[in-house]
Amino acid sequence: MAESARELMRRGTRLIAQSGVDSSSAALDSRRLLEHFCKITKTDMVLNPSVTPKPETDAQYIRACQRRADGEPLQYIIGSWEFMGLEFEVNPSVLIPRADTETLVNYILNKHAVCEKTKLRILDICCGSGCIGIALKHFMPQSDIVLADISDSALNVAQKNARLHKADVTVVKADLLLGYENCFQDGEFDIIVSNPPYIKSTDMDFLQREVLHEPRIALDGGEDGMKFYRALALLWEGALKPHGEMILEAGYDTARGIYSLFAECGYSEITTRRDLGGIVRLVAAKRGSGYENNN
Ligand code: GLN
Repeated sequence: MAESARELMRRGTRLIAQSGVDSSSAALDSRRLLEHFCKITKTDMVLNPSVTPKPETDAQYIRACQRRADGEPLQYIIGSWEFMGLEFEVNPSVLIPRADTETLVNYILNKHAVCEKTKLRILDICCGSGCIGIALKHFMPQSDIVLADISDSALNVAQKNARLHKADVTVVKADLLLGYENCFQDGEFDIIVSNPPYIKSTDMDFLQREVLHEPRIALDGGEDGMKFYRALALLWEGALKPHGEMILEAGYDTARGIYSLFAECGYSEITTRRDLGGIVRLVAAKRGSGYENNN
């Protein structure tokens, strides 16, 4: 007799748990994989305890559980992940969208979404999957969004996600470290938002095994984790409009550094926000008034 979905899922959970994933996460992951590969949900199993998967989907499911047991993130195995209530395609060329990063989107929406007439021009640099910029376009359709990244494979994913969400955004290849002049105009943006790489190079070898599957280029922030913040604060201020705001994601140990950097560079109205875990996840500041006076 064919193995029921319940039995199959138990087998999948054991496989994942044996690899060191804790048992409640193993059960959640194996259920999610069952939904994805066998199209059988928890409700289906409650309503019909002997429901069996379609032929071949059981083998696909077990292969997926094995990949998970080998440390591959669930998100890359199923190929998508939710961010701000929207589903984004992901693959190993982009960072998996984190709930923490919603802090940046919510900050912008709280400030600007109510004012429907404001037509903001926003740059999401180091866009990866495009989740920040595309979510902003989704909730503020009147805004003009530019997504930029140095990685061609990430830009492909961002393009696909833009199509998926019918988001009319511009996608541009840009090297953050070279500054904005090759790609953008002086004073072009109301907002520059970024989740740049910010893990210290020396910490890169000690990341969780799942994170090691994510692109190093999206994580490694140089010796002190500040390399990309420095370039943003110093080289990209000129791309902001006079009252434009730069909004950056911070790691648990980089918020102070970003704050000082903005202060040293003469930015004004430096603001922070915490994520749901209580960590300062966002540091934002407006283009310096000193610069305005000189012009
Ligand atoms: N928040 C990510 C992590 O801790 C890092 C993201 C980044 O470097 N931008 O894994």
